[in-house]
Amino acid sequence: MKYRSTRGAMAPMDFSDILLEGLAPDGGLALPASLPKISAETLESWRALDYADLATEILGLFIDDIPRADLSRLTHAAYNAEVFPGAQMVPLKPLGKGVSLVGLSEGPTLAFKDMAMQFLGQVFEYVLDKRQASLNILGATSGDTGSAAEYALRGKRGVTVFMLSPHGRMSEFQRAQMYSLQDGNIHNIALKGVFDECQDIVKALAGDLEFKSRYHLGAVNSINWARIAAQVVYYFWGWLRATTAPGQRVSYAVPSGNFGNILAGHVARQMGLPIRRLVLATNENNVLEEFFRTGIYRPRSASDTHATSSPSMDISRASNFERFVFDLLDQDAGQVRDCWKQLEIKGEFDLSRLLPLFESRYGFVAGVSTHQDRLATIKKVFGETGLLIDPHTADAVKVAAAYIEEGIPMLVLETALPAKFGETIQEAIGQPAPVPEHLRELAALPQRVQVMDCDVHVVRDYIRQHAPA
Ligand SMILES: *Cc1c(COP(=O)(O)O)cnc(C)c1O
Repeated sequence: MKYRSTRGAMAPMDFSDILLEGLAPDGGLALPASLPKISAETLESWRALDYADLATEILGLFIDDIPRADLSRLTHAAYNAEVFPGAQMVPLKPLGKGVSLVGLSEGPTLAFKDMAMQFLGQVFEYVLDKRQASLNILGATSGDTGSAAEYALRGKRGVTVFMLSPHGRMSEFQRAQMYSLQDGNIHNIALKGVFDECQDIVKALAGDLEFKSRYHLGAVNSINWARIAAQVVYYFWGWLRATTAPGQRVSYAVPSGNFGNILAGHVARQMGLPIRRLVLATNENNVLEEFFRTGIYRPRSASDTHATSSPSMDISRASNFERFVFDLLDQDAGQVRDCWKQLEIKGEFDLSRLLPLFESRYGFVAGVSTHQDRLATIKKVFGETGLLIDPHTADAVKVAAAYIEEGIPMLVLETALPAKFGETIQEAIGQPAPVPEHLRELAALPQRVQVMDCDVHVVRDYIRQHAPA
């Protein structure tokens, strides 16, 4: 399987190369040259597999430069009961009326990003070992990416992590989780700005090709194809658990920010998984909902990005969106380049001519959920089922309600556990979210973080001084 770029100017590359690269050299995002198609028979043959074995099957379709036995070792190291200690690794939790949560947050940081990141940590170490190479991971996080990356990469040979986060904009739990790590290969950098500004600094440094190659910069942001591929696995898993017969359809509802999670659903659907709808939920930062309603993609400035009670979705520019636009434009890289040129010139691009295809061809619909919706949904679900859901998951449960259909399971991706967002849970139901036993002392641990101005030069200097020679 070779990879190409959404901008069309990248020589074909192997999985292991794009794994370590981040953005494609032409500024686009890497994609498989063509997607594998899964037949109904193959799907049926996967019903009895456990999660790690299913991951081997599906990731093996995207990765042909790692021997199968090695890949299997990596997936079992990523997906086992030690890393995901719940009764089930990815449980389905029924909420009634055909709606179920897909429990993606049973990992070490209580958020779905562990699902992809644990595999990424394994495959990074494997490929770096093979190449006798080292890598400095530079990332930006609005909360969950950073901690998932750090927990997956702590202590890994050959990897040093520099993680930028927006100072004062993450929940107390998220901060404690990340900043309490004392591993020498983990550097937490809190910038006085918002997430998009952190992301801009990552882009600027990764775009400085001399700096990038001198310091072996790599990325774990959701633009990394390996993360998308690892996320494709749980769309198959959810379908296998929620259906009993070939061809039966399900819909998925996805709390969305950078468009990474739902993009994996789009990929699964394009591979032939019987998905009826992909319901995209945003919070008040509704750039993506606006696109699916109007066909106009108009990212917002950092100052127009609201700090909400589902903070991991406080994103005004969706870094993975280009991969979907590539498909929308019939994989015409020239048109993709035009769109992103428009974006630079006018701050938006207009694909309203394709509006009728969004749902009919790709199954996409979208909706917004607000702070009040979030609180009401958390309270309602708790009252009806006794299950506590986190604010991001609540956004998707709220938006999904409009698309529930008789006989079609609505699978809502549970992207975090409520313990991470205690303040909002308290506000919704008047009592705090239970914190898992092993995380109770987290808040009391000493924290290790550098607070800095949101300035690319300052960050560059810090990396120069702290990257291994
Ligand atoms: C990252 C994250 C999201 C958004 O996922 P994207 O892939 O960026 O769309 C939603 N909810 C939670 C809890 C997250 O951590």
